[in-house]
Amino acid sequence: MPRRPYTLSPARAAALRPLLDALDAALDRRARLAADPVELPRRYADPGDAEVAALFAASLAYGRADVFKPVVERVLAAMGPSPAAFVREFARSPEPSFFAGAIYRFNRPPDLAALAAAAGDVRARHGSLGARFAELLRACGGDGALRSALARFARELRDAPQVAPLLAGRGTRGLLHLLPDAAGPGASKRWNLYLRWMVRGPDGVDLGLWREVPPAALVVPLDTHVHRVARVLGLTARPDASWRTAEEITASLRRIDPDDPVRYDFALCHLGMSGACPVRREARRCDACVLAEGCLSAARAARPRPAARTEARRTGSARARTS
Ligand code: SF4
Repeated sequence: MPRRPYTLSPARAAALRPLLDALDAALDRRARLAADPVELPRRYADPGDAEVAALFAASLAYGRADVFKPVVERVLAAMGPSPAAFVREFARSPEPSFFAGAIYRFNRPPDLAALAAAAGDVRARHGSLGARFAELLRACGGDGALRSALARFARELRDAPQVAPLLAGRGTRGLLHLLPDAAGPGASKRWNLYLRWMVRGPDGVDLGLWREVPPAALVVPLDTHVHRVARVLGLTARPDASWRTAEEITASLRRIDPDDPVRYDFALCHLGMSGACPVRREARRCDACVLAEGCLSAARAARPRPAARTEARRTGSARARTS
């Protein structure tokens, strides 16, 4: 029998909202921003520069932030003061070894050159990456529009005419890792992260540059940290880090804020990333946690253990016999 989609009850949504607001308010934004890749596109005042810088920062945001952020910084430094102007020129005369030395796990300089040329190509044809994504979202329409638009957006970038010559002899796997297919089973965390940065805000974290895309349409960027915290808050029971799980968590968060379901993503992610949440209750950290009242892990730990329950029942029935 197909599993019924999980939904957060209105009462639980109402109980969680003030807790999540308190988490967000208590966040040390300056410290957490310094540890987060969104800090890199935030350095640019021009929206075109920011959307290009964000594309690189989000595409490379896999693994540990303290390891991939220096690689993104190196790539952005090579582009000069205006990433938008750089990709425009680079799309006209691309060079596969331009980012020589910028190596990170599955990616090599030709992958980054292909990404730069593709971004320049889409911007030359549509004015901005945001304008093209908004067009695709409108064209897709209906249920699943965001995912379909993302899949088409990624394909357009991967299929830019400059890409194949740049990747001759290298193959497309590295670029596919930078620009994954959102129609696949994965949660497409980095695409949803890019959208969160571009669409939400501006609020001191996200940039709010793509005004044509409604924040209500966003899907939570599901990573290990968000998944674990979402489970202890009962936003999902699903164990897999899939697109369906991301959608289920988003549906729960939509019950809390229908217009801006991913507004708590930064706070939830950094609760896990900072090491503040042990996931299984641990007095030292959980007693200080503003989410404790709504945390299923804390509630489970507060229940008597089976042996304690048996003892309580035995003592209770002994009392009943003697009264
Ligand atoms: S109470 Fe503990 S386990 Fe629950 S969310 Fe807070 S830190 Fe995490």
